Amino acid sequence: MISARINAVKDAYGRESIDVNRPSPKISDYFAQNVFTLDKMEQYLPKATFKEMNSIIEKGEKINRTIAKDVATAMKNWAIGLGATHYTHWFLPLTGLTAEKHDTFFNPDGQGSGIESFDGAMLIQGEPDGSSFPNGGLRTTHEARGYTAWDPSSPAFISEVGSSGKTLCIPTIFISYGGESMDYKAPLLKSLQILNKAALPICNLFDRNVARVKANLGWEQEFFIIDEALYYARPDLQATGRTILGHGPAKGQQLDDHYFGSIPERVYSFMLELETEALKLGIPLKTRHNEVAPGQYEFAPVYDEVNRAVDQNQLLMDLMKRIGKRHKLSVLLHEKPFAGLNGSGKHNNWSMSTDTGINLLSPGKTPRKNLQFLTFFVNTIKAVNDYADLLRSSIASAGNDHRLGANEAPPAIISVFIGSTLTQVLKELMAKVKDGKMDEYERMDLKLNIHNMIPDVLLDNTDRNRTSPFAFTGNKFEFRAVGSSANTAFPMTVLNTIVAEQLTKFKKEIDDLVKKGEKKEGAIFRILRKYSKDCQTILFEGDNYSDDWAKEAKKRGLSNVKSTAFALDFLESKESVKLFTKHEIFTKEELLARYEVLQENYQMKIQIEARMLGTMASSQILPAAAEYLGLLLTNCKSMKDLGLNKSTMTAQLQLIEYISSKINSINENVIAMVKERKKINKIADIPKRSKAYCDKIIPYFEKIRRDIDKLELVVDDKLWPLPKYHEMLFIK
Ligand code: ADP
Ligand code: MG
Repeated sequence: MISARINAVKDAYGRESIDVNRPSPKISDYFAQNVFTLDKMEQYLPKATFKEMNSIIEKGEKINRTIAKDVATAMKNWAIGLGATHYTHWFLPLTGLTAEKHDTFFNPDGQGSGIESFDGAMLIQGEPDGSSFPNGGLRTTHEARGYTAWDPSSPAFISEVGSSGKTLCIPTIFISYGGESMDYKAPLLKSLQILNKAALPICNLFDRNVARVKANLGWEQEFFIIDEALYYARPDLQATGRTILGHGPAKGQQLDDHYFGSIPERVYSFMLELETEALKLGIPLKTRHNEVAPGQYEFAPVYDEVNRAVDQNQLLMDLMKRIGKRHKLSVLLHEKPFAGLNGSGKHNNWSMSTDTGINLLSPGKTPRKNLQFLTFFVNTIKAVNDYADLLRSSIASAGNDHRLGANEAPPAIISVFIGSTLTQVLKELMAKVKDGKMDEYERMDLKLNIHNMIPDVLLDNTDRNRTSPFAFTGNKFEFRAVGSSANTAFPMTVLNTIVAEQLTKFKKEIDDLVKKGEKKEGAIFRILRKYSKDCQTILFEGDNYSDDWAKEAKKRGLSNVKSTAFALDFLESKESVKLFTKHEIFTKEELLARYEVLQENYQMKIQIEARMLGTMASSQILPAAAEYLGLLLTNCKSMKDLGLNKSTMTAQLQLIEYISSKINSINENVIAMVKERKKINKIADIPKRSKAYCDKIIPYFEKIRRDIDKLELVVDDKLWPLPKYHEMLFIK
């Protein structure tokens, strides 16, 4: 009998790329054609309403019912004009995925006909039956309802992949009956507001014209692609997103020949279609290329305001899966689908900018601009310095645990890289110790000549450290430790919040000094100098992958928590509760609920992996090994019957022993793991159970896998049931 694997390989290798039709050779002809942009709003709304709506979006204000009604009508007319039949409130529940529930615009009148309608109330609020979304105990079943509420700061769009019709999607937040947040968007929006509130008065120290500060995000999304047939022949990939078994290929990424190499035809046509659909949705994809590992790729857009960028990323991850299907390709967003090969991350390029168009993290040409730059630069580092653990917890997930510290991604230790020029600038800043009320500002400027010095960073592209979890890259910070499958709203929420907290403290320190009679610039320098000294703990310019750094970090008192089950505890720490409740990002209950959800999610993922591993070992691997063993035994018996000497069977007898010992060892470990799991499942406390899974179950994964991967090397290739690494990784 031909194994399912052999058939899958045949299918996979026999496929050709499919043609992709683009609406026009010019992207500008169709960019954002499926988005209800400001332009379209202007076209469909009465002039006065448009003006008001524009300012509401700009300032993040509340919507009144009259405007909502007009906008709803405009949106409906636009969407129906493009062929949409349904609408949905689109939201980001704590599953990390996106959710939608479609309703038709059509309303029957009971007389055999009806009309398309969509009013303000339908736009503003929805009531999906969200009773089975994770909520960490925020909803008891008798009030199982969740509510969605319109987020006007992210534009509505039309989703239309394939022939499944068109749906108007309205970005919303998702809250419980009692108003508690049960999604990733509401806290993100709050964090953006408080960042604005904290940063604005500081901007105004330098420029009175600034009225608003926003945060920007440019994500770089890494992922793997394999043929669909091979994906469906791997139950582990389907259930867990990663291969929990499989020996590394003889040829992996050693030759570095995949990185920036040419893209295979089938993948190229997938990318073309994905780009086309993404561009129609206003996702400004800019670059695509091969990544380091075979089968690994990356997309990056032009950056946008954080809330919109997060929505775009969620939308893209969803699109990737759907468009992949049309090309018979499976997109793997897991952080580590293949052991031994590079994992995937989502680098978050983050900056703050003003409504006057100034990037606050961009070194300027004048001393005054540079002081402003230094202020935001140093305060961001200080925020990371003071809340490194919280930042670590924001990127914790079962998948990311495989990646952090795996010598291709930063370790679980948070540190900040700033490059040699800025290291020098901070050094000079700290070196100048002087008391009194001199005009520090001018002397400082003279001494550092910073306006000539800092712009060099921009030119100095080689001054980059790809091993750092949080690196300054010229005019933005790049948070590189975020996992590829993560909803990046959460790490962004944490980053915005800790920077807002830090800026608030900074402002108070400045005000206190000014009250005492110090000049403003002098005060700023004095505080920045103090912060620069504090930040020496978190600043690290060396190789983050090295063992020396782990030792050095330990000396510095930096945490190095490798497992999600433990890293999440930072989220429910006293400081964390204090920070989030102070800024009203989360109530204590909301934060603890989120903690529970994340712990439970981790525990369930490990549980599923454990079950999968047990099943695959017992029902696929052991039978294949036993079948091969049977062949060997029959051989030996025949040889004996022919009267051959035992020495002629040496190799086969050795193999028989080797395979039998592996079979026994796998079986023993699987039984022991199941027993242990039964014990752990009795632990009622979720975080405790999650930690037990980490400590007691994960070690079995290693042991069982090692034996199985050894078997893969000796069992007859024809009998091996699972697609092998080299078959999955190299798409024809
Ligand atoms: P890399 O060399 O690391 O790939 P790129 O210059 O290509 O970096 O940029 C990566 C991402 O950073 C892109 O999404 C880009 O739009 C984004 N980016 C560039 N400038 C900023 C900024 N000021 N704020 C936020 N993101 C930015
Ligand atoms: Mg980058």
